[in-house]
Formats: sequence, C-alpha cells, structure tokens
Amino acid sequence: MKRVLVTGGAGFLGSHLCDRLIAEGNDVICADNLFTGSKDNIRHLLANPYFEFIRHDVTQPLYVEVDQIYNLACPASPVHYQYNPIKTAKTSVYGAMNMLGLAKRVHARILQASTSEVYGDPEVHPQPESYRGCVNTIGIRSCYDEGKRMAETLFFDYHRQHNVDIRVIRIFNTYGPRMNAGDGRVVSNFIVQALKGEDITIYGDGQQTRSFCYVDDLIEGMVRMMNCEDFTGPVNIGNPGEFTMLELARKVIELTGSKSKLVYMPLPSDDPMQRRPVIDLAKEKLGWEPTVALEQGLERTIAYFRSVL
Ligand code: NAD
Ligand code: UDP
Repeated sequence: MKRVLVTGGAGFLGSHLCDRLIAEGNDVICADNLFTGSKDNIRHLLANPYFEFIRHDVTQPLYVEVDQIYNLACPASPVHYQYNPIKTAKTSVYGAMNMLGLAKRVHARILQASTSEVYGDPEVHPQPESYRGCVNTIGIRSCYDEGKRMAETLFFDYHRQHNVDIRVIRIFNTYGPRMNAGDGRVVSNFIVQALKGEDITIYGDGQQTRSFCYVDDLIEGMVRMMNCEDFTGPVNIGNPGEFTMLELARKVIELTGSKSKLVYMPLPSDDPMQRRPVIDLAKEKLGWEPTVALEQGLERTIAYFRSVL
C-alpha cells in the first residue's frame, strides 16, 4: 500500500484517479479547494477509511507524509482559468513550488499534469514532445499556458538541483463522465446542448481540430507514467484521432438523435487551429496507447449527462 496525495482530486480527472488508486489498495489523500471540483465527484469515497479529503489551496504549503504526489490542481477549462487569471498563474506556479517542496522534504515521487497547451497554437503538426511550442505570452490563454510551462521548468529544476523524482505528462483534450456541465469545454457543451435541444455553438468556422482522449485511457497512461522507472518525461498522453469541431458536433447530434441546429459564434482569441499528439514515446516507454474510440467514449459520456441532467 502506498500513501498517495492527489491535488485537484475532486475535479474531473482527479476523481477518476482517486477511484483508480483506491481500487488498487492505496491510502489516498485528496487535496482540493473545490474551485472547479465538487464533493459530488468523490462522495462515494468519503466513507472509505483509506480515503481522506482535505480542503486545501495549493498556493499554500501542505505538510503530509506521502510516497507519491499527483499534482492536478488547476482549473482546466478556458472559462474557468480565465475567470481569475492571476489566481490561475499562482495555482500553477506556487502550487508546483509547494508540491515540489513537499516532494523534496518527504522524498516522494511527484507527477505533474501538464498540458498540450504548452505547444500553444502549434506550427508543427502533429506535436512531438521535442516541439517547443508557439505560445502568446500576453493573451487571454497565457495565464494557463505560461503557468503550465513555468511549472514544467520548476519540475526539471527541482530534479536537477535537488534530485527530486519527477514525472511530467502532457495531457491532450480529455473527456468523459464527471466533466462539469457548465465549464464550457467543447465535448460537455455540445452534449449538453444536444440533449437539451439547444443550438450547438460552433466557435469560428468549426474547422479547428482537437484530439480527444477518453478519461479511462488517460488515467491508465498517467498511472503507468507514475510507476515507470528512470523516465522523467515529458510524455504526451492523448488520442491521436483528430477531428474538426464540425465533425464533433455532427457526431454528437447523430449519437444523441438530437434536433439541435448548429450556430456559428466568434472564435475566441488565440484559439489553437490544430492539435494532435505524437504518442510514440508513450508507446515505447510505457507500452501505452488509447483503446477507446471517440464514438464509444462519446456514447458513455452522453449516457452520463443523460443521467445527471
Ligand atoms: P478540473 O477543473 O475538473 O479539476 C481541477 C481541480 O483542481 C478541481 O477540483 C479544482 O477545484 C482544483 N483546484 C483548482 N485550483 C486549485 C487550488 N489553487 N488549490 C487546490 N485545488 C485547486 O479539471 P481537469 O480536467 O480534471 O484537469 C485536471 C488537471 O489536468 C489540471 O491540472 C489540468 O490543467 C490538466 N489537464 C486537463 C486536461 C483535460 O482535457 N481535462 C488537458 C490538459 C491538462
Ligand atoms: N468550441 C466550440 N464550441 C463550444 C466550445 C468550444 O466550437 O461551445 C471550440 C473551441 O473554440 C476550441 C475547441 O472547441 O477550438 C476546444 O475547446 P475547449 O474549450 O474544449 O478546449 P481547448 O480550446 O482548451 O482545447
């Protein structure tokens, strides 16, 4: 049994990770300030003696004794991370420093949930880990993109300077049950709009692309990376299937049987035009690749939203 800290453990990905770690017989501490997460995501775990929830903000130090730390605390949807951009930057940067300081003190291994946003609006397609990105330093997405880039820098400096045992994964757009219905991300938006018979909001001309990974695949990659020896990353974890937002909207309409119409709205500034991971490194080092096709994953996600709406 390992003692594992999950920051952001009451969020979408964090709660699935807590489920997985508890199922494997670990002792789990979930630290979350509940900004975008919810106790509803972890309510089924609260009575478990091996699960502990702490309401804690990672911009403040935390003193616990653990063997592993998964650092997921950070709002992930553009609507939420742009709500208080200064706080988003603090969460990424001070949060990384505090959790790295903890890892150093207790000799824990620590994994950072980084993001494909470190590639910005990429000029290299698809994106391998060696690509250094094209990020606007002063735009509305910068608080998140640059915060996550600085966090990666801190991880590698703590590794070089203090020998902290780090792991860095770059997560591409991930979706599934427990996404927050109101957080504005494209998969949850389209499904909720389709189920309610509302117009489906396409930003721009809908030709921009994303690669969507189902949550179970993502968690598998994350856990493999944490338990992999002699490999710091960064490693891309995502599904290389690439779709335009128009294709996604049409799939959602088809799978829900909705009568919703498409409406076109302005493209937010700095919205990346294309996104697709190269996952050769994950295959080679972790023996990992995604197993859930978009249609299958959408069906499960639609079933979830039908049950909660
Ligand atoms: P989420 O918003 O559902 O979860 C983030 C969690 O962090 C929430 O529970 C929130 O309350 C908590 N949190 C936010 N600020 C905090 C703070 N200062 N102190 C403590 N807790 C705080 O988002 P998610 O999709 O589950 O993302 C989890 C992590 O994965 C994030 O770090 C995100 O950047 C990263 N990521 C996610 C995706 C994706 O597609 N879901 C893609 C790339 C990276
Ligand atoms: N998007 C859209 N309609 C929506 C929400 C999002 O067309 O209702 C687009 C958005 O402009 C972006 C893509 O979908 O091009 C993915 O957006 P999301 O916010 O999910 O993630 P990110 O832009 O961070 O990858």
